[in-house]
Amino acid sequence: MPSATSLDVTAIRKDFPILAQQVYGKPLIYLDNAATSQKPQCVIDTLTRFYKTDNANIHRGVHALSERSTLSYEAARGKVQRFLNAADTREIIFVRGATEAINLVGQTYGRTHVSAGDEIVISAMEHHSNIVPWQMLCEEKGAVLRVIPINDRGELEFDQFEKLLNNRTRLVAVSHVSNALGTINPVRGIIRAAHAWNVPVLIDGAQAVPHMKVDVRSLDCDFYVFSGHKVFGPTGIGVLYGKEKLLEAMPPWQGGGDMIQSVTFGKTTYNDLPYKFEAGTPNIAGVIGLGAAIDYLDQIGMDAIEAHEQELLAYGTRELESITGLRLIGTAREKASVLSFVIEGVHPHDAATILDREGVAVRAGHHCAQPVMERFGVSATTRASLAFYNTTEDIDALVAGIQKVREIFAA
Ligand code: PMP
Repeated sequence: MPSATSLDVTAIRKDFPILAQQVYGKPLIYLDNAATSQKPQCVIDTLTRFYKTDNANIHRGVHALSERSTLSYEAARGKVQRFLNAADTREIIFVRGATEAINLVGQTYGRTHVSAGDEIVISAMEHHSNIVPWQMLCEEKGAVLRVIPINDRGELEFDQFEKLLNNRTRLVAVSHVSNALGTINPVRGIIRAAHAWNVPVLIDGAQAVPHMKVDVRSLDCDFYVFSGHKVFGPTGIGVLYGKEKLLEAMPPWQGGGDMIQSVTFGKTTYNDLPYKFEAGTPNIAGVIGLGAAIDYLDQIGMDAIEAHEQELLAYGTRELESITGLRLIGTAREKASVLSFVIEGVHPHDAATILDREGVAVRAGHHCAQPVMERFGVSATTRASLAFYNTTEDIDALVAGIQKVREIFAA
């Protein structure tokens, strides 16, 4: 069925060579995009071209290759800045991924602002990477982790959140979109409520940035993090956005080359933003590849991507809800394209294994969100997660695969 939205998905799929393959003699249906997304040819070409023609270390060299790689690296920073609508490139820090970005904030901002008895607020639907760094900080400082509860649909209980805020709250850290449930959180309201208490907010955007337009200035968030590999770029690269005033006041995290202005055995002075937080040789090719992914997304348009995915999500939700014995985990009114489910009498791993044999790649497990599993009384779910290159035919293949699972377990 052709998309009613403005995306030419047939043409788009040709940009992703990996999608045109068969597994077990069946066409690959890739529905594991929340774990990692596939890469368009332009990203692959950018990486190859960089290593073929430009590879050199950045910032310190005076030769032609080093100048070229430095220019491309810094141009990518500008692309990320515009993509997020950040005010300045000084606010864009390149890290390994969302996980490292959150740890950086915990170990710098957190360590200098959190003391015994202080509180950090997260939600019950966080990925482990937005739980454990805060637990580590709380343990070190004798601080307390407060958790916003979620309802049976998998939505944040906003009134409970407001009650958690007080003059001991030092930071709120919540996901923009839940990887396990697909819930889109009301981050604008969360930020406004926290700011009323002068509390800064970190938004984990790992699952939001691939699906919708994000504007950090309009949101007024203090920190925003995401991973390149989930947004059609390479692995091993991610972004920490932080408001300049906050980043400026934070101590550096890792020490090493490039993050210094001068070093003597008596005293070291630190470099300006953003370099203060980029110690050592960074993932140069990864940054440039991420820049190519952003160019590609810009060309397609995040609004068109969101509209197409919302259409797919509505179709997939209707189809899955009509399957007897299937329970969707995560039925928030505001959702991104994640379909997490359990089938009565079938272990989620068995379902995923049978689907795999049908060519349908989904994920089964706790999705690094064990507290979410506990909240819904399941040990794991099977999760189909969509990207803009997915189609209603992909959903039909998922549904046919689930029917096969049910037949096998009914036999
Ligand atoms: N937050 C969320 C919501 C995620 O889904 C993920 C990845 N599954 C992460 C953080 C961590 O991302 P990464 O592993 O790329 O650092």
